[in-house]
Amino acid sequence: MSQKIEVDFGLCESNGVCMGIIPEVFDLDDQDYLHVLQEELTPQNEAAVREAVRQCPRQAISISEE
Ligand code: SF4
Repeated sequence: MSQKIEVDFGLCESNGVCMGIIPEVFDLDDQDYLHVLQEELTPQNEAAVREAVRQCPRQAISISEE
C-alpha cells in the first residue's frame, strides 16, 4: 500500500506555504501554478508533508491511501 500526496487545485490559492515547508515536494512555477514534484509519501518527506497539510491555509493538501 502506498500513500499519495494530493492537492485540490480548486482550493489552492498558490500562496507557497507548502513550498516554504518542503520545496522538494511542492513547487510554484513562474505562473504561480503549483506542481507536486514527489507524489509518493516516503519516510524522508512524511513529517514535512504532514506539516504542510496542517499549515495549508486552504486545506488543499491531502494524503490518500491506495
Ligand atoms: S499551502 Fe495550500 S494553498 Fe498554499 S500553495 Fe500550498 S497547497 Fe496551495
